[in-house]
Amino acid sequence: LTDMFLILLVLSLLSYRLYKDAQKQTYIAWHDPLTKLKNRNFLLNELKELSEKDQKYAIVLLDISHFKEINDTVSYEYGDQVLIEISQHIKAQADKFAFSCARVGADEFAILINQEDFHLEFFVKKLLSDLNSALHSMDRSGRMSISMGIATYKESGDSNEHLLKKSNLVLNNADFALNIAKKSHTEQVVYFSKEIEIEHRKKHKLSEELELLISIKEQKQLFMVFQPIVSRHTNKMGCEALIRWQHPLYGFINPEYLISIAEESGLAKDLGKWIMKEVYHAFTVDWSEFNDQVEVAINLSDSLFDEELPMLVTEIFGGNPNYLDSIVLEITETMTLDEVERSSNIINELEKIGVRLALDDFGTGWSSLYNLNHLRFNKLKIDKSFIQNLNCEKNQTFFVSAIVNLSHQLGIKVVAEGVEDVTQLKSLIELGVDEFQGYYFSKPVSKQEFTHFCKHYFDEGPLAANMIK
Ligand code: C2E
Ligand code: CA
Ligand code: CA
Repeated sequence: LTDMFLILLVLSLLSYRLYKDAQKQTYIAWHDPLTKLKNRNFLLNELKELSEKDQKYAIVLLDISHFKEINDTVSYEYGDQVLIEISQHIKAQADKFAFSCARVGADEFAILINQEDFHLEFFVKKLLSDLNSALHSMDRSGRMSISMGIATYKESGDSNEHLLKKSNLVLNNADFALNIAKKSHTEQVVYFSKEIEIEHRKKHKLSEELELLISIKEQKQLFMVFQPIVSRHTNKMGCEALIRWQHPLYGFINPEYLISIAEESGLAKDLGKWIMKEVYHAFTVDWSEFNDQVEVAINLSDSLFDEELPMLVTEIFGGNPNYLDSIVLEITETMTLDEVERSSNIINELEKIGVRLALDDFGTGWSSLYNLNHLRFNKLKIDKSFIQNLNCEKNQTFFVSAIVNLSHQLGIKVVAEGVEDVTQLKSLIELGVDEFQGYYFSKPVSKQEFTHFCKHYFDEGPLAANMIK
């Protein structure tokens, strides 16, 4: 009898162990070990079940922007601490309404709103202000911030298979909205909407068309125009190459929008090469008679400014004849901001091959002076917003004057862009600005028109100089 009892005891102990193990396994399978929140698998499963029931729900995706910097600059332990604390706040808010929440990525969380007729916006506002203050108390520098993307699933009478796809779609939509929120400087929360979807489709369509346009030879939609830049010192003629897209359906496409499409769809590098080749072609074919009297400024979009850049420009402009010292690459502050050492290496390599660099849109970013001090630029372009208010706001004159003095002491030439009238020009000359660009001289023109402009300028010589005297 005792034997029987012992066997039973052992068996029940064993099954208890098995039961506990299984429980632990399920726990591991559905939970995030660090924050103890549910994990991505759990969320996906929950979404699937809700879709099967054809129930209405919304997903709130949350992300801590610049979280990585805390890991890098403070410590991983502190980073973990931040994640744990934020997750507790999220859980506390979700628990009030018995909503599920999960950690779905390194610094990404989700809340599943499975109540119909729920006052979503009110909940989101409360959640956001709670998280903002929690984050602020952990990161006084204010570098980290919360972004949210929200998408809603509305029930429909479709077949089951369709519904499963739809649950993925809702998550994708929330993710898409989150990405917009992360990039935005003004909106912390973005709700996925019909407009966002239409805009997304349009961008996708345009990116496909753009890819085609830069790969074929005979096309007329995409082309470069050139805006003269007049120097008061040299008898060279400068210009800035600017892109244009005349679309058969949408008409003229804003160049900044076009560049953002190229950047977002991974086409920026190919587009950059296309632009440079167009410029090289103009040098060798259209402007060959001017020898090295013409110089061209080329705008670089973000992804072009990397270690490959010196090689890339050498391949395109370093042939025979060599045009490397006839180009100026324009970069903006947002590109150089983060990694000064890396940028400075690239700039040094460019300098070695004779390519000059200009800092564009000067005055619109916040790190201006830091960049001037740490990176070697050949030219600085004062943003047109400063030039346009020059004669009505006295402070602008002080600003331009200080920048000119500082730049000259650093051996940097100053270019004023957006010069529209002779009063502006006179003030700029008085302030010591070296080069001028703007509608006062010419709007951006085709390469043939630029040839005429140069001919006139070089032939007239002193007369041309009169333009700025
Ligand atoms: P940006 O580099 O600051 O270019 C100068 C912009 O000022 C050009 O606008 C030019 O047409 C405009 N502008 C010139 N003179 C005047 C003036 O007197 N008054 C006023 N109000 N505006 C003047 P655009 O061509 O529309 O280009 C806008 C921006 O798009 C450029 O700003 C640049 O950031 C970008 N972009 C244009 N072409 C290219 C390109 O080929 N590559 C890259 N990466 N970006 C480009
Ligand atoms: Ca520019
Ligand atoms: Ca500019």
